[in-house]
Amino acid sequence: MELNQRIKAEVEKIPLVDTHEHTMPEAERSQYAVDFGYLFAHYNTSDLVSAGMPPRLMEAARLPMHHYRVAYIKRRRLRRVIPEPEREDMSLEERWQAMEPFWEAMRNTAYAKMTLIAIKDIFGIDDLSRDTFLKLSQAIADSRRPGWYRYVMKEKANIALSIIDVQSTEVDRELFAPVMTLDHFIDVRSRQELGYLEAEAGTAIHSLDSLVKAMQTVLERYLDSGVVAIKNVLAYVRTLEYDKVSRHEAELAFNRLTQHLGEGPSFFEAKPLQDYMMHQVIQAVVEAGLPLQIHTGLQEGNENIITNANPTHLINLFIEYREAKFDLFHGGYPYVQEWATLAKNFANVYADLCWVHIISPEVGRRLLHELIETVPANKIMAFGGDSITVEMAYAHARMARQVVTRVLSEKVTEGYLGDDEAIALARRILRDNPAALFKLSV
Ligand SMILES: [Zn+2]
Repeated sequence: MELNQRIKAEVEKIPLVDTHEHTMPEAERSQYAVDFGYLFAHYNTSDLVSAGMPPRLMEAARLPMHHYRVAYIKRRRLRRVIPEPEREDMSLEERWQAMEPFWEAMRNTAYAKMTLIAIKDIFGIDDLSRDTFLKLSQAIADSRRPGWYRYVMKEKANIALSIIDVQSTEVDRELFAPVMTLDHFIDVRSRQELGYLEAEAGTAIHSLDSLVKAMQTVLERYLDSGVVAIKNVLAYVRTLEYDKVSRHEAELAFNRLTQHLGEGPSFFEAKPLQDYMMHQVIQAVVEAGLPLQIHTGLQEGNENIITNANPTHLINLFIEYREAKFDLFHGGYPYVQEWATLAKNFANVYADLCWVHIISPEVGRRLLHELIETVPANKIMAFGGDSITVEMAYAHARMARQVVTRVLSEKVTEGYLGDDEAIALARRILRDNPAALFKLSV
């Protein structure tokens, strides 16, 4: 397929507004970027496990990033468990040997392709194999120097600004704009967890009303520190179906929960309270004038319940909260057409392709073709790196530009778009739309 060279050159030039990253704080990088394990923060490790690598062996093989992930999950109080590494005393050679057969098995996937792009373009090494893992490990260790993030994100990736979800608002504002979550005020299941919320909000929580008030207090604090959106990732732990429940039902569930110390009541007992709190969060977020980013579709890792994350579960919220701005993540993959249909149907739904191009560039291309034909251009956002490391964000940005270039070239060849129209569209979906939605000055 011939690429339109003018479109290619223009797409390369666009400084991206990246809707979603999880970038590790640069100050912490020197602790973890010590060898090839650093490039196995997430995603590619899911395919290692899918290829048959025992999870605990995988954790041992990526040891530096195992330690980072444990700290990260703990800091974010996510309801996810990282398995203990099988051993902590493996040599670099043993760690590579443990990974090698599974890496060889997964090298066809887009996660592996992204990894290889990062290795080649950032570290100048052509492959990841038994011949290169030592050299790569050295190159990664040598990259621990000040200014590395600016070099990779600005100079290499040409990303103007990334919206970052690391559950901290203390981020380098030259590179990042923060989002925070209120999920912990929704997914609450025990008296002990209410205690964490009390500590965070600085108020006692003994009633449903005081739980709502505490959530609002925390949101106000986020606003004061300049968050540009609120993010919801609860599709990892529950269904996206948030029923409209009465105050009474929510209060009964709250009262039951206050009597549980440990794990608390089952999800089904807690659900009315969670559903009620989701509605309260949306109302507060609307009041604050912020968009709500919602994880839909594929969950990172293995053995997740994909049906929980079907974006069509959210339809009642789209109907009820017309004044809200719902930024629907990840193409809803694999519910891509349902997801596109929602963005077509509802004025308050935005189509965000973050993560999609590394799940499958082919899906990214098909989906972008469809979006261009179905969804008004002001609601399409074509790139979010969704990475823990800047190197993977770079590789993902490169893949996203390739997808956008090829789709727009095809649309011009088909006679669907003119050259200038295609270039204007590229600017909108890679930069102007997210800049407008999140009110960013870039
Ligand atoms: Zn993410």
